[in-house]
Amino acid sequence: MIRPAVFLDRDGTVNVERSYITRPEDIHLIPHAATAIGRLKAAGYAVVLVTNQAAVAKGLLTEVELGGIHKHLESLLSCSGVFLDAIYYCPHHSQFPSSSSDPECSCRKPSPGMILQAARDLDLDLGKSFMVGDSLSDLQAGWSAGCRAALVLTGHGEHTHLEASDEDLRRVDLIAESLADVGEWICGLQPSIP
Ligand SMILES: [Mg+2]
Repeated sequence: MIRPAVFLDRDGTVNVERSYITRPEDIHLIPHAATAIGRLKAAGYAVVLVTNQAAVAKGLLTEVELGGIHKHLESLLSCSGVFLDAIYYCPHHSQFPSSSSDPECSCRKPSPGMILQAARDLDLDLGKSFMVGDSLSDLQAGWSAGCRAALVLTGHGEHTHLEASDEDLRRVDLIAESLADVGEWICGLQPSIP
């Protein structure tokens, strides 16, 4: 059955922002993020992480190490009884091409590639879905995929809010203190999904 989804940026949205997380122990959940994810799941949304991981292209992190970081993130969420439907990451960066990286990739946000791939893999209804993040590139990826978009003021969010153009601010569907507030807003919009 086709489902709506909430796509989440990782750093600064689900876990506390710090530049280049390269170790599992650097992952710290933002307060109430797990509760918000649980609430969205209970309301019938698939919850999918979509994260740019240029640290891989830059050689700071291997994809195996990134897998370990995501396992740790999932184990922290599971302590609250919460599970993500999927995690997609973009390991590319155009300034750091390598034999394994695609400098013209379509997955690095603001491109919508990860969202479009998730929609194909998980049978998601993008027109009823949301992208949540702390950077303009998160919002742009969501809009490009046909989703609504919410800006959180955690992570780089305050800076993004200050730097955003009037046009972007008019377009954004919600500006929220944190993921917890976004979860409340989305669930309030559509209290029950068939
Ligand atoms: Mg972020």
